[in-house]
Amino acid sequence: MRNEDRCRISGYRYEKMLKIKDLGEFGFINRLNPKETVTGLKLGIGDDAAVISPPEGFDVVITTDMLMEGKHFLSDTNPYAIGYRSMCANLSDIAAMGAIPKFYFISLGIDPERDFDYVENIYNGLNSLALQFDTHLAGGDTIKSEKTVLSITLIGYVEKSMAIKREGKIEAKDLIVYIGPLGYSGAGLEVIKNKIDGFDEQVEAFLYPYPQVIAGRILLQSKIVRVMMDNSDGLSNCIENLIIKNGFGALLFEKQIFDERLDAIAEATNKDYLDFVFNGGEDFGLVAVVEKDGFLDLTYFLERALFDSKVKVIGEVIEGEKIVLKRLNDSFLVIEKSGYVQF
Ligand code: ADP
Ligand code: MG
Repeated sequence: MRNEDRCRISGYRYEKMLKIKDLGEFGFINRLNPKETVTGLKLGIGDDAAVISPPEGFDVVITTDMLMEGKHFLSDTNPYAIGYRSMCANLSDIAAMGAIPKFYFISLGIDPERDFDYVENIYNGLNSLALQFDTHLAGGDTIKSEKTVLSITLIGYVEKSMAIKREGKIEAKDLIVYIGPLGYSGAGLEVIKNKIDGFDEQVEAFLYPYPQVIAGRILLQSKIVRVMMDNSDGLSNCIENLIIKNGFGALLFEKQIFDERLDAIAEATNKDYLDFVFNGGEDFGLVAVVEKDGFLDLTYFLERALFDSKVKVIGEVIEGEKIVLKRLNDSFLVIEKSGYVQF
């Protein structure tokens, strides 16, 4: 039976059953081309390369994130979630520089036997987030591959020489600020694995994390941020990079970090909630070291501008290269760095 007949019988649109190989290279790319005019994009999909015209007074910021079937997702993982996830990681990296995201490029390895629907859903997932931040597809490359491979490159702008880095001059008494959910993603994964009911917010944080692009912009404009990064590998990794490597230590306050929901998930899964916080990662929140003076004003703006995102002072910079947690009972716990290591 031909695809077309099968679809007619089952009531599906024929197009939905199209395989990638049925489209040919031109037809494939043509269907994925949004064909819109975008400010700053002089030449988009269709030529040998894209031409982008950055606004005057801005640097160009570039980041890449790669996902591979079998390593980061499974062959039956919802393709929309794969796209969403990949875009979130890229947007979050741009946010962590305090930059404005603008254009993205896709390098796609795909099995031509797959339904076109599968690819379209990856793009829908990518765009569902990208378009919220006025970020547009500007090109890509496609190869045949048995396993799905997706690499997204995101290009953005930031005011000349203003990008916020990981390395920088910090001082004792600086504040350590966190924006976004902390530990929720790792906890959400445990909720899913153990099929526990009643923790939708954590499951949502794992499946559909939110990149802190707006917060990144406000933090950059405040001019009181010394160093910053996103929380993709856990809080201990962030503290290591932002504070220990810059020659200082961190005193963190459990009072600001403790979360009853996380604690409940930890209890139900025989874990320590601090493990979600320090080693979980993938929350895509922002960790920033900021000057103490002026922070109250900054909080005022952040809390009014951010939808549903928590802004917390989770600690302060101290002398001595160690991470110390002041517990709820006022005792002190030294945290070993054991953030997630890729290799
Ligand atoms: P080349 O052979 O010069 O690499 P391609 O045929 O790969 O050219 O690409 C032609 C155009 O289609 C380019 O503008 C490229 O950016 C775009 N393109 C290729 N693959 C994709 C894809 N998967 N998604 C979006 N655009 C793509
Ligand atoms: Mg090519």
